[in-house]
Amino acid sequence: MNRIRLLVFNPALPVLDYKVPAHLSVEPGSLVLAPLGPRQVLGIVWEADRLPGDEVPEAKLRPILEVLPVAPLAAPLRRLIEWCADYYVAPMNAVARMALGSMAALRGGGTTTEYRLSGHEPKRLTPQRAAAMDALHGEQATIRELAAIAGVSEAVLRGMANTGILEPVTVDLDRPYPRARADFAVPDLSAEQRQAADRFIAAVDAEEFRPFLLDGVTGSGKTECYFEAVAEAIRRKCQVLVLLPEIALTENFLRRFEARFGTPPVLWHSSLKASERRRAWRAIASGEAQVVVGARSALFLPYARLGLLVVDEAHEVSFKQDDGVRYNARDVAVIRARFEKVPVILASATPALESLEMAEAGVYERVVLPDRFGGAQLPEIAVLDLRKEPPERGRWLAPRLVGEMRERLERGEQSLLFLNRRGYAPLTLCRHCGYRFQCPNCSAWLVEHRLSRRLSCHHCGHEVPVPDECPECHTGDCLVACGPGAERIADEVKELLPEARTALVTSDTLNSPERISEFVAAAEQGLIDVIIGTQLVTKGYHFPELTLVGVVDADLGLEGGDLRAGERTYQQIAQVAGRAGRGEKPGEVLIQTRHPEAAVIAALAAGDRDAFYAAEAEGRREAGAPPFGRWAAIIVSSEDEAEAREASRAIGGARPNLPDVLVLGPAPAPLALLRGRYRYRLLINARRSAQLQDVIRQWLASLSFPQGVRVSVDIDPYSFV
Ligand code: ADP
Ligand code: ZN
Repeated sequence: MNRIRLLVFNPALPVLDYKVPAHLSVEPGSLVLAPLGPRQVLGIVWEADRLPGDEVPEAKLRPILEVLPVAPLAAPLRRLIEWCADYYVAPMNAVARMALGSMAALRGGGTTTEYRLSGHEPKRLTPQRAAAMDALHGEQATIRELAAIAGVSEAVLRGMANTGILEPVTVDLDRPYPRARADFAVPDLSAEQRQAADRFIAAVDAEEFRPFLLDGVTGSGKTECYFEAVAEAIRRKCQVLVLLPEIALTENFLRRFEARFGTPPVLWHSSLKASERRRAWRAIASGEAQVVVGARSALFLPYARLGLLVVDEAHEVSFKQDDGVRYNARDVAVIRARFEKVPVILASATPALESLEMAEAGVYERVVLPDRFGGAQLPEIAVLDLRKEPPERGRWLAPRLVGEMRERLERGEQSLLFLNRRGYAPLTLCRHCGYRFQCPNCSAWLVEHRLSRRLSCHHCGHEVPVPDECPECHTGDCLVACGPGAERIADEVKELLPEARTALVTSDTLNSPERISEFVAAAEQGLIDVIIGTQLVTKGYHFPELTLVGVVDADLGLEGGDLRAGERTYQQIAQVAGRAGRGEKPGEVLIQTRHPEAAVIAALAAGDRDAFYAAEAEGRREAGAPPFGRWAAIIVSSEDEAEAREASRAIGGARPNLPDVLVLGPAPAPLALLRGRYRYRLLINARRSAQLQDVIRQWLASLSFPQGVRVSVDIDPYSFV
């Protein structure tokens, strides 16, 4: 191969052709450095016939400079990148970038220097250094990472390294991970579990593409079952990827994994330290990493020998990425399994309607675990009609729910209150003049956080301290909190049950692996009586003494025009209900609602999952919504409101006129201002017969926009804001 074509990572550049000098050799997938003007670019050698572009004449070809010392991206991964770019109408280099994960890792192994406290404590310390020393206990990382952890400047830490308070440690980037042992602690499976596990194991042995929907009630042992397939892959020296919807769940997972396989798996997520990232990437690419557990970004990594993919809590919305390349990791996992010719297991107690339909259609093999493990019963679910049994004035918990909590407290059992809203109150206003605190960058209210005494925007992160007076009318002591957040519910519990030990579980309070472990340990040891949490506590946890779940506001998720609002509410409540009664004692669930007649609530109360899904499917069929029809969105944004509006109108004006494609809008997006950008959106509803992506590509290709306008396409959107 002498003439080659590169996929490069600068989206502004076309594909580039080069030649390979005699002393180098490349193959498709090789990562190379090439000259570009006075600079160098990183590129992936791609099959020229799969990467359209103008061919550079022979005489103009420049030689590449270097082939990077890592394995070439294998063909199945290259096909996956092409598939994603095509399906999600995204630039191929943006997709390919996700496979690289750590640029530094491409430079080869070797060592890096990290720092940690040396144990040497000078007699006198500046307050900054003293604070840094407190913050850095047990930490080892680069100066830059330590600076972020300690909240001081890098200069302070460099000073501490010079005076010997911090000591350098040389870290070998390619030091091996401890080996997971397939037979370390094999569980006794129930007959049903055994059957499920055997089907997965057979698929791993067959080394062929087989998609499974593992549909098992909460507490049925789904994890135990797919662990048997993981064990089989380990025996066959294949790699496994387990995708989890959020990092908060990994803590729990790591412990269970270690108990089963004798060592933790390799972790991949966005907050890894640079050295961990390099080490993990290199172990994944070399095949040394046996089992990788990660967030959705782990999906595109260059596994050397993948043998099995698992997507746990596969129904979770967080598998959908809503910026950059807008993809759904659950769906891409199935596609990757197809290209890699390996089985994939989607595990859930409340599968997405899309997944259920694939099972109905026989595309996915459905594996059902209908019962909880060890004879535990599913909880009793009752509805609490807030119109008939209202809470006291200024409170959010109805007397019956409080009564049930008090009983649990007296019996030494645990309760869990679920409200999917962080902070103290979703809206703060001035009692005097009516001023409402709004984010300057987004069309959203600022949410009060009493713990941190701040008002913060949950969309862009904008924060201000809670002021003493109204910024508008300057009256003092006049701010009123409207509506409840989890913090406020926690306060209410402390007032109503002062003797109860409470734990507030939100992404604000459980923001590190250490804190998550502390919480889990405290809950398991019975040091917590009432857990108050957001969706963070709905999944994964197994607390045998937890016998009561209260859903504070079941109607919350049904507000807003989200197409999946019903399904999401069903899933969330069914999942959080699934935390109750997992041990020997039976569980009870109370759902507070103003709409007991709503289909979702009625189905939950009747424990009739099939009826819910049937009704939901019927509604979607009528609306031409997924999985029966298709949706896509085009989102237009700009810092200039007029520019965004103009651009969205231009797109609307060029809409295709096709019988199977319906275009709605343009209209201001529900979140009309986000991070300082004005947003308009068009919604496209298409029949399954339509070539939706081609239609959108051709439609947009005919238009051009001013510099400041961003146009993004969202195929199979989840968020409608
Ligand atoms: P799910 O993921 O379906 O909610 P889990 O896999 O978390 O269920 O299992 C629920 C609990 O039951 C866990 O504590 C798990 O360790 C335990 N369990 C499930 N199956 C077995 C088994 N065969 N042997 C021992 N414990 C089991
Ligand atoms: Zn904001």
